[in-house]
Amino acid sequence: MDKICSFCGNKNFRDKLVQYIYRCEGRFLVVNNVPCEECEYCGEQYFMAEVLRKIEKDFCEVYYYSKKSKYEVSLPVEDFTELL
Ligand SMILES: [Zn+2]
Repeated sequence: MDKICSFCGNKNFRDKLVQYIYRCEGRFLVVNNVPCEECEYCGEQYFMAEVLRKIEKDFCEVYYYSKKSKYEVSLPVEDFTELL
């Protein structure tokens, strides 16, 4: 199967595990060790639909069905217009 990067046209990809941040309506779910294929040239990352579906499902379970996530972090938030 010949895949081509839709950003740069490169055909070489490497398998990688990355951190994925799922965002929905101002809520975040961070998932570590998510498999993806990364373009060796421009670094664009491609995720399989099944992988994204799993993350989306887990997001719902955590936020709507009170599933306890592995752990939680708090994160600082800034507004760019207030930065010096
Ligand atoms: Zn690329």
